[in-house]
Amino acid sequence: MGQTAFLEIQRVHASFRGPQGDLDALDDISLQVERGEFVCLIGPSGCGKSTLLRIIAGLLAPSSGAVYLGGERISVPGRRIGLVFQSPTLLPWRTVEGNVALPLEMDGLSSEVRQDRVLKLLKMVGLSGFEKDYPLHLSGGMAQRAAIARALAQNPEVLLLDEPFGSLDALTRERMTAGLLHIWQTYQRTVVMVTHSVEEAALLADRVVVLSPRPGRVVDILPIELPRPRDPGLLLDPRLQQIARHLREVLRAGEEQTLQYIAGQQATP
Ligand code: ADP
Ligand code: MG
Repeated sequence: MGQTAFLEIQRVHASFRGPQGDLDALDDISLQVERGEFVCLIGPSGCGKSTLLRIIAGLLAPSSGAVYLGGERISVPGRRIGLVFQSPTLLPWRTVEGNVALPLEMDGLSSEVRQDRVLKLLKMVGLSGFEKDYPLHLSGGMAQRAAIARALAQNPEVLLLDEPFGSLDALTRERMTAGLLHIWQTYQRTVVMVTHSVEEAALLADRVVVLSPRPGRVVDILPIELPRPRDPGLLLDPRLQQIARHLREVLRAGEEQTLQYIAGQQATP
C-alpha cells in the first residue's frame, strides 16, 4: 500500500493476550494526518485511545497494520515522535530543569545552549521559578506541564498527548489549553491529542476522530471549521457549543451501535 499522508495509520488492530483469552482493544483503525494538523481523539474510557497513541509512538507493536511517518515505517520509539503520557513520567531524581534538559543532553548541546532552551520552555509552560524543584514537590498539573516541556525539548515532528489536562482543575486546564494553542500556532507541530472533553476537542482540533467503545473503531471524523487563530474565549461561542453537542451525539450513537451489536451477538448463539 502506498503512503500518502505525513502520518499514516493503516488498518491497525491491537489485541492483548489475557487469562481469559484475547482482548481486542482496537479494530481496524485507519487515519491520515497532515503535517501541522491538530487532531483530537475522543472515545469512551477503555476504547483503546492510549493503546493507539503507544502504537503511533512505536512503543507497542500493532497485532496487524502499520504506522508510517513521512513514508517511513514506525516500529520502535524514536526522536521524531514525542509522547506525553496520561500520568506524567518524570525522573524523580532529577530537578524540573534536569528533566526537561534530558533530550538536549542526548543531543550533546553545550550547557549554555541547553540552559537557554530549558528556561524558554519552562517559561512557555508557566513553570518559571520551579527549575530547581524535584518532581515529588510538584502538583499533578505542574508535573504534567514539565512533561510537556520535556516532550517539546525533544523537538519532535509529531507530538502525542494522552489526556494531558485530565488531572487539572478547571482554571489551570483552561490556561494550559490556551498555552497549547499558542505553542501549536507558533511551532506548527503535528499534534494528536486524546481528550475526554468535547469542548476542548472542538476548541483545539482541525479534525476530531470519534472512536466507538472497545474494541475501538473509527465512528466518525469531523472537521472543525472554526476560524483560527482561536482562543479559549471561543468556548462560550454558540458555534463551538453546537459542535460540542454534535460530538456528544456522535459519541452516544457509537455507544448505542456497540450495545446493539453485543445484544445481537448474545441473541444469536
Ligand atoms: P483508553 O485509553 O481508551 O481508556 P486503553 O488503550 O488504555 O483505553 O485500553 C484499551 C483496552 O485494552 C482496555 O480494556 C485495557 O484494559 C486493555 N489494555 C491496555 N493495555 C493493556 C495491556 N498492556 N495488557 C492487557 N490489556 C491492556
Ligand atoms: Mg487512556
